[in-house]
Amino acid sequence: MHNLVCPRCGTTNDREEFAGPFCLQCAPIKLICPKEFSIEVCPKCGRMRVAREWIRFDPQIIAKLLKRKCKGKIEKMEYDPHSGKAAFFITRENSLIRLERTIKFAPIKNICVDCSRRGSNYFESIIQLRGRPERIAKYEKLLTSSLSESTFITKSEQLKEGKDLYVGSSKAVIAVLNELGMKVTITRTLHGQKQGKRLYRTTFLLRL
Ligand SMILES: [Zn+2]
Ligand SMILES: [Zn+2]
Repeated sequence: MHNLVCPRCGTTNDREEFAGPFCLQCAPIKLICPKEFSIEVCPKCGRMRVAREWIRFDPQIIAKLLKRKCKGKIEKMEYDPHSGKAAFFITRENSLIRLERTIKFAPIKNICVDCSRRGSNYFESIIQLRGRPERIAKYEKLLTSSLSESTFITKSEQLKEGKDLYVGSSKAVIAVLNELGMKVTITRTLHGQKQGKRLYRTTFLLRL
């Protein structure tokens, strides 16, 4: 005996499970997603802001953030910010169903801290490179290329005892030096105050 007939395919509930008035195969899939997605993007360096951090523009991270704004049994999601094409893989019973939506990517242009400081001779730290000139040259190159991914170098000063690099962010210097596994002597000096916060300048001494 059956008492439900799927209005779409005509199957009955003694043959197929039902979800509401439709059989499971025909039941509409629940997917709620926004029409538009925004994130702050720096027009100068192209990085994007996630929480408080400015990080390299990454469509996969954008897809992850966007997925949190969507509702449904979303197993996986792909998103291309350039075209706005989003592909959702939704679980229904034991199968994955692919649904496409267009979600406009609307970046909010905002100049990041680094780009706004870059033009103003700002620096938080000095890396002092000391040792043989060829070692200094080698490490200057290495540090400059690593640091330019996460911060900027305000200036580089040639001294008779070595070289000083003035760098925008101390945090970035610490991260790069840790990554390279380099031994350093660190000195912090109080440099001033801004809005009640103490400002420090950090000197990293590298004997090469
Ligand atoms: Zn049906
Ligand atoms: Zn920037």
